[in-house]
Amino acid sequence: MKAIRILEHGGVEQLRRVDLPDPQPAPGEVQVGVSHVALNHLDVWVRRGVPRHSFGLPRIPGSDVAVQHEGRAWVLQPSWGCGLCNSCQSGRQDLCKKFKIRGESTDGGCASLLCVAPWMLLPVPKHLSAAEAASLPLTLLTAWHMLVGRAQLQRGERVLVQAGGSGVGVMAIQIARLFGCDVHATSADEGRRRRIAEMGAVPHPYEDIPKNFDVVVETVGKDTWEASCKALAWGGRLACCGATSGPEVGLNLRLLFFKQLTLLGSTMGGPAELRAAWREVEAGTIRPVVDRLLPMSRIGEAHGLLERRELFGKVVLEQDLE
Ligand SMILES: [Zn+2]
Repeated sequence: MKAIRILEHGGVEQLRRVDLPDPQPAPGEVQVGVSHVALNHLDVWVRRGVPRHSFGLPRIPGSDVAVQHEGRAWVLQPSWGCGLCNSCQSGRQDLCKKFKIRGESTDGGCASLLCVAPWMLLPVPKHLSAAEAASLPLTLLTAWHMLVGRAQLQRGERVLVQAGGSGVGVMAIQIARLFGCDVHATSADEGRRRRIAEMGAVPHPYEDIPKNFDVVVETVGKDTWEASCKALAWGGRLACCGATSGPEVGLNLRLLFFKQLTLLGSTMGGPAELRAAWREVEAGTIRPVVDRLLPMSRIGEAHGLLERRELFGKVVLEQDLE
């Protein structure tokens, strides 16, 4: 089969087209054909590398995958636990020590074929294309786990989504709207702020953020951390699932204890949470936000768009390796 593979960490030139033997299904697995892969910021980290973290190269990237199997379109669960440990048994696969993310800790979808366990298949709803559906799982799950699982979002709360035009941002806005919240979101770009307003959230530039939020969604890290903390109401919760601008931040402890703030770390989520969120996708209450579709062979260009923050929502790659 054909695939894109990362042999060494570095620039987009490290995304190499290669020929590999077809993957053979292990007992209980099925072989599926890949039609689309959506990019996430995680793809950039897998390509560039992260200090003191091993991705186990060589690696085929791609966490969000749409496939064809038995004549119909499906998307794949992007992550899973071992299924056996105490965390997995209690429904918290996201805390499993052997937690895996497709395209990060195992080979991903940038290939013509994949082998998967059938429980990982989620049906593409009739009202969506395979490309649209592929854009959803990882960011939907991340935002759902952050807001519903970790922050325990309540109806009518005031929510700030930092980087509202990002993949996680557009999902967080929709989930918070679903809970009847007063949703605000930031973006540096006027065009993207217009799109945020069309999604029913109040847009703000980063320099001008109002205060008194019950929940703040943080994915940016260093550049927005201080503003995010200041924007919290007394008793507010800050949920953080990423640090695209850098992971080292300061923290004013007086602010933390006087205002009785809660800081919540969040990463991915469990398969049951994605199934719950997928019911909203099937009902049409959560919609994909796809900025553009590119052929899979132009994956380097797609990485560039993501790194330069030139997207509103997602970039999806269409199979053209064969
Ligand atoms: Zn486990």
